Amino acid sequence: MTAKIDIRHIPHATPTPADVRAKLIADPGFGKIFTDHMVTVRWSADKGWHDGQLRAREAFTLDPAAAVLHYAQEIFEGMKAYRTPDGEVLLFRPLENARRFNRSAERMAMPALPEEIFLQAVEALVRADVDWIPGGDGASLYLRPFMFADESFLGVKPAGSYVFCVIACPVGAYFKGGAKPVSVWASQDYTRAAAGGTGAAKCGGNYAASLIAQAEAIRNGCDQVVFLDAAEKKWVEELGGMNVFFVFDDGTLQTPPLTGTILPGITRDSIIKLARADGMIVNETPYSFAQWQADAASGRLREVFACGTAAVVSAIGTVRHKEGSFTIGGGEDGEITRTLRARLTAIQRAQAPDTMGWRH
Ligand code: PMP
Repeated sequence: MTAKIDIRHIPHATPTPADVRAKLIADPGFGKIFTDHMVTVRWSADKGWHDGQLRAREAFTLDPAAAVLHYAQEIFEGMKAYRTPDGEVLLFRPLENARRFNRSAERMAMPALPEEIFLQAVEALVRADVDWIPGGDGASLYLRPFMFADESFLGVKPAGSYVFCVIACPVGAYFKGGAKPVSVWASQDYTRAAAGGTGAAKCGGNYAASLIAQAEAIRNGCDQVVFLDAAEKKWVEELGGMNVFFVFDDGTLQTPPLTGTILPGITRDSIIKLARADGMIVNETPYSFAQWQADAASGRLREVFACGTAAVVSAIGTVRHKEGSFTIGGGEDGEITRTLRARLTAIQRAQAPDTMGWRH
């Protein structure tokens, strides 16, 4: 039995003219420009998933009592479509996004979305807006599948109706400095997620809670915040929107384990698999902030990098905190960071054989 549904195509009445689109995608920035279309699929307790539509991107009409506006039942994904040198269009491990979406849905008491429908919706949008995919180095089409509760009621219980939607943005590099190492602010006042909480889910609320820490990072001259664990404020967890890896002088890599408080990044998983396939040792074990400082000072720590769909692989050069700051490996983009970034992006953009079967 297939779980696919019908996605009805409602033609766009006034698509963006080609010359305007070409100007928009020439220097798109990140998350500011949107394509012409969106896909929506609705869920209700009696009908299940139904009413799939591919149509012009437009505003939603929401009742002021819509559950998402009060109790924040909302989850999302982030993934990219890439244009290859041959002009083909590829997605990278999209089934992993569909699976994580459903793990987020389960945690937030939302209905599961069959993986086939997730893929169908993403593919339909990429096909409709294929001309919005920028070519060029580091550019891609960022896809944002999300789901929210739209039932009108005031009362704390899982809603009875939901909207699943996919929108897309042509994007360039995430950090303005390009491949330049980024600086991070170690938050000692705010934490992101506690055991038993929603840290492993990609729900909007996690990001709302992280904004004050991110604002503190920016006030302190840093690009991103790095969170410590909620229980002891001792262990390094992840950045606001990226996982983190440490590279030591003996060539081993270390990254915090998936214990439920950090997001299981698909880039994280891909880096672990690529590094291991290349014969590197990767330890998924806790790393304390005190050890980070000590290892940076002794030189045992050679490189640190953050990774995620949006920023791919970015070296972390400087760490600031309340008591001071320190740098890693002279604040340069390190060799292993560069190698792993090149390995990953070559697979994503079909510039290397797909030895892992990750292209779609
Ligand atoms: N951690 C957080 C908190 C994130 O928001 C993201 C981005 N989805 C990541 C890590 C990296 O995940 P991925 O590699 O799947 O993009």
